[in-house]
Amino acid sequence: MDIFVEKFGGASVNSAKAIKNVEKILLLERKKRVVVISAMGKTTNKLENIVNKWFNDRVFFVKQYEELLGYHIGIINDLFENTKAREEITHIIKGIFEELKQKIQIIPSSDYNFLYDSIVSYGEKISTTIVSYYLNQIGIDNTLLFSYQIIKTDNNYRDANVMWQDTQNMVEEKLLPLLEKQDLVITQGFVGGTKENLTTTLGREGSDYSAAILSHCLQAKSMTVWKDVSGLLNADPKRVEKTVQIVSMPYTEAVELSYYGASIIHPKTIKPLENKKIPLYIKSFLNPKEKGTVICQSESVKPIVPNYIFKDNQILLSIMPKDLSFATESCLSEIFSILAKHKIKVSLMQNSAISFSVCFEENRNILPQLLKDLEQDFIVRYNEGLQLVTIRHYTSDAIHDTIGNHSVLIEQKSRITAQYLLNIDDKLAKS
Ligand code: ASP
Ligand code: MG
Repeated sequence: MDIFVEKFGGASVNSAKAIKNVEKILLLERKKRVVVISAMGKTTNKLENIVNKWFNDRVFFVKQYEELLGYHIGIINDLFENTKAREEITHIIKGIFEELKQKIQIIPSSDYNFLYDSIVSYGEKISTTIVSYYLNQIGIDNTLLFSYQIIKTDNNYRDANVMWQDTQNMVEEKLLPLLEKQDLVITQGFVGGTKENLTTTLGREGSDYSAAILSHCLQAKSMTVWKDVSGLLNADPKRVEKTVQIVSMPYTEAVELSYYGASIIHPKTIKPLENKKIPLYIKSFLNPKEKGTVICQSESVKPIVPNYIFKDNQILLSIMPKDLSFATESCLSEIFSILAKHKIKVSLMQNSAISFSVCFEENRNILPQLLKDLEQDFIVRYNEGLQLVTIRHYTSDAIHDTIGNHSVLIEQKSRITAQYLLNIDDKLAKS
């Protein structure tokens, strides 16, 4: 049985019109599909606010709750022409909102991450309920299967880890039999469940990952992510004037790009697909017939053009042993254990005889304590507000255009990748 997994993100279901577009895409081709859907529009952010404000700002809570309910009812009113169906789904959705309100009241506040997953996951529960009901009503028969039943995870709430064997078992037990009987199964992105069926989430923007997990377990023919862009571009068009569409990219390149900070796709998505050599298509839901980009097993990216990744708000620490001794292995090991203690994700590093430089995204909540720990044995100087630019498949023109007349604090080049840490406002170092 050939199975296709398709993921529709928040922007592709953010209005009645968008949902009707999903319907059009599904009608383009008849095939066995598992469709993974995110929360509608900005619902997840709003639910995060609801959780955060619940404890100390009930007025805001009520306002945000009512707004979210109104948003979904508005979509239902625009979507359903049939009065009876509209009344029925309105009743169901109001019931789910009521359930959410009751849940937030009974879960103890002490367990923030648990509460977060229980509440924030409602975005997907609501969106899939509406879309599944709508498609059934217009004759696209489908079953809504709750993802907490199939995507099994540990109880690391807010960033749950997948239990692969349990998930595989559940996919075979619950999802495959449905697909044998019917062409379409709908499920939630982002949401999983523990052994005890308690709700977990896979981390923000995790729906891509959900689709990849299911693709892996189903040995899908392909996975498609429907987006509001026509595929992957070689740079963020907000930063680079002329961008080029990528036609195809090897898995390894996609992993490299997400390592350097490209926000193309949720970073955990590639591995489950690569392991089974399942191609990943990134396509525009506005122009579904366009080819888009495919990430697959291949030799090199096509076309080969410089690919730019910009990271702002970087800080560069220059760390020197107080006695001006060499920056030896044992001294580096001390520095790294301090960085690890503060959960610093290093984006670039470089060392010389007596100093070690390290660059990472600045977080003002962490910096003072980090500096205090380092300053016990080291002299530390730092520059803030820097920009790290990574150029994969660089050319001299690409480098020249990127650097402009900014001062370069660190330059690193390998055969394929060039990285520049730029002081874009020419700020002075602090110590
Ligand atoms: N709805 C979730 C989020 O916005 C998951 C996703 O969209 O991928 O983070
Ligand atoms: Mg989203």
